[in-house]
Amino acid sequence: LTILGLESSCDDTAAAVVHLPVSGPPAILSSIVADQTDLHAAFGGVVPEIAARAHAEKLDLCVEQALTQANMTLGAIDAIAVTAGPGLIGGVVSGVMCAKGLSAATGKPLYGVNHLAGHALTPRLTDGVEYPYLMLLVSGGHCQFLLVKDADDFTRLGGTIDDAPGEAFDKVARLIGLGQPGGPAIESAALNGDNRRFAFPRPLLDRAGCDMSFSGLKTAVLRTRDQLVKENGGLTVQDQCDLAAGFQAAVVDVLAAKTRNAFASYPDAAQRSLCVAGGVAANTAIRSALETVASDQKASFVAPPLALCTDNAAMIAYAAAEQSTLRSEDDLKLSARPRWPLDTAQPAMLGSGK
Ligand code: ATP
Ligand code: FE
Repeated sequence: LTILGLESSCDDTAAAVVHLPVSGPPAILSSIVADQTDLHAAFGGVVPEIAARAHAEKLDLCVEQALTQANMTLGAIDAIAVTAGPGLIGGVVSGVMCAKGLSAATGKPLYGVNHLAGHALTPRLTDGVEYPYLMLLVSGGHCQFLLVKDADDFTRLGGTIDDAPGEAFDKVARLIGLGQPGGPAIESAALNGDNRRFAFPRPLLDRAGCDMSFSGLKTAVLRTRDQLVKENGGLTVQDQCDLAAGFQAAVVDVLAAKTRNAFASYPDAAQRSLCVAGGVAANTAIRSALETVASDQKASFVAPPLALCTDNAAMIAYAAAEQSTLRSEDDLKLSARPRWPLDTAQPAMLGSGK
């Protein structure tokens, strides 16, 4: 089974070809990602209209490059997969229209895939992780724990009730005068900082379950910064490093504690795995804290390569390949869904657009 995947739900335009042999591990034959960072840089965030236009312009080229790199023609592809949500509606529509065109022109089956399912199934694509497993999806736009029981069976155990951690890293970096993206900037500043100088809150730390909150933490950093500026007229490099270290330590503690809580929902299984996805999973301090929790819980820790942790189309092609054995294909009525929770009425919602 060879699937062409398309992804355009946020600010990356992506196309990929994934091959699933009859036996043996899946192979990523190509994975093209065209990011739009330059287009949005001047605006301090993703501008939906600009993103949608750029996706519409770049999708064809990405598909062409993905086929060329995979040494394939469109005729040799067995099915077309596309992110049908959740995400910025204009971008999702661009992808869905492009996929429908390819499907109509070639007569190949079409599969609309939930973007979050793509992230959640990535550890199976990269590491062949067995069901059931725990997934922490932690990125610029998302933060949630999922129990993944099958390619169409996800239980959301909890998540952030306000900001995503990546968003918090980016905002805090801006507050304390570090560059963007904030994650890597804070991580490297924190290496030279004292994480005990400022006592930042660990919101919801003692509450059971997996819900998290990061916006109060961000406000606490803001207050401390204002205090320092008031007292000293500005921030020294050491202040920046200590603020970064204090903030990062709080995020680490919250994620580790909630991961420990998530294990309470793990069903009986011969093997246990904790998997991560999303750009924030690049953070070494976060990774090593999660690894410790996993080993305490006698679970293996799986972090796919970063290029497959962030938005890409290989995960969409792979999710469609797995789901194709569990459900019927979509038709040209497939519609884009800006909101699409993973664990609500999955089969019905995976139908043709209602
Ligand atoms: P989504 O995929 O949810 O739509 P996104 O495209 O913003 O959102 P990703 O590309 O997965 O998310 O990740 C980008 C985020 O990861 C940014 O917020 C960035 O600051 C954060 N990030 C990247 N590297 C690190 C790091 N080393 N530590 C912490 N955060 C990081
Ligand atoms: Fe994503």
